Amino acid sequence: MLLSRASLIPTRPNLSAMNDEPRIGTRLVRAARRLPAGAGDPVVPALVQSVAFDHASAAEQDAVFGNERPGYVYGRYGTPTTAALEEGLAELEGAEAAVCFVSGMSAVHALVTACALAQRRAVVVQEDCYGQVRALLERLAREADAAVRFVDPNDHAAVDRALAETNAALLHVEAIANPLLRVADVARLAEIAHARGASLAVDASFATPVLVRPAALGADMVVQSLTKYINGHGDAMGGAVAGSKGLAAAMRDRAILDGAYLPPHEAWQIIRGMRTLALRMERHCANALAVATHLAAHPKIGRVHYPGLPDHPQHELAKRQFDGRFGGVVSFVMRKDDRESAFRFLDALELAASATTMGDLFTEVLYPAISSHRRIAPDERRRLGITDGFVRLNVGIEDVADIIADLDRALDRV
Ligand code: PLP
Repeated sequence: MLLSRASLIPTRPNLSAMNDEPRIGTRLVRAARRLPAGAGDPVVPALVQSVAFDHASAAEQDAVFGNERPGYVYGRYGTPTTAALEEGLAELEGAEAAVCFVSGMSAVHALVTACALAQRRAVVVQEDCYGQVRALLERLAREADAAVRFVDPNDHAAVDRALAETNAALLHVEAIANPLLRVADVARLAEIAHARGASLAVDASFATPVLVRPAALGADMVVQSLTKYINGHGDAMGGAVAGSKGLAAAMRDRAILDGAYLPPHEAWQIIRGMRTLALRMERHCANALAVATHLAAHPKIGRVHYPGLPDHPQHELAKRQFDGRFGGVVSFVMRKDDRESAFRFLDALELAASATTMGDLFTEVLYPAISSHRRIAPDERRRLGITDGFVRLNVGIEDVADIIADLDRALDRV
């Protein structure tokens, strides 16, 4: 059966004035461009891989380019599948809008650049933030003359002083910091930042919207590395910034020009992963608490960092802010606080993968000194508490007895 010209080129009615039936070469190129119409909504959102979007007229295309009407023009500007994820994230965060990036790093870079550095204003950042974020800010300070001040976010007087002294536009903290697992008091930091005319950005990648919705506590921007718990399956990377519509417009502009917008296939995978986030977080949190409690009593372990343990400096805050859950990551320092013991332990693990990530279903172990915090000067790393025997564990959703048995077996070798 020959396809009619109208079905081959449906959005271009003016072309239906073509006299000849399209030939085989044209038909092959133009065939199967639309899903057949019919009743029934798919229960899973469509993966729209199209890079470009055709419009009925140049005027309509102009209106979409100019943001005067909703729509899509080009994959780097927006895609329906990524937009579905953005809508979902905004709703989960309780924010007006969200914009997705190719990675958590590109989301942080866009945020810091648009909300502080582009206005030649300073940014005050948690000193023990994710090591690559710290390295990025150190590089921006070095190469782009950015005014960056690192502080301890639990020392509220120091935060206030840093904001006042630098007249900062932005305070950037992590809800649960990577890898020391210090907990930031989001509501208090929002008050301090706002009183000094700054905005508060909270990276909640370790907490996710299941544990905390920073926007409800006064944060102006929420960052997520979607690569971590939100996707949760270790097979897609992404990042997001959620906040006001104005913030989203600025973020989208960054994503477009920096070429950092999240492609649809990753968005589709992340949507699928996100559906089980609440279930997974419950299990991550329960397993992590059991592992932390076990390690705290282990003779080969010197110190355990976990907000769920009563001796954690922000235990009471964490209990309140995260509604009795404390996340799925446990960090610890070997009693023999040296690299040799840490490496022996890492090499002896059988179940836990030695992997530079977290938030996955699987138990994963990381040695920050050679990975996430490799670029941080060794003295500064040790000053923060990331010593040579420091290990970070992403406690997966496997049976916790097997996770603990694996850790014990490896600790026996140290
Ligand atoms: N924020 C935090 C707290 C992280 O731990 C990470 C990565 O580990 C990032 C941001 C960066 O995310 P991505 O690896 O998706 O770029």
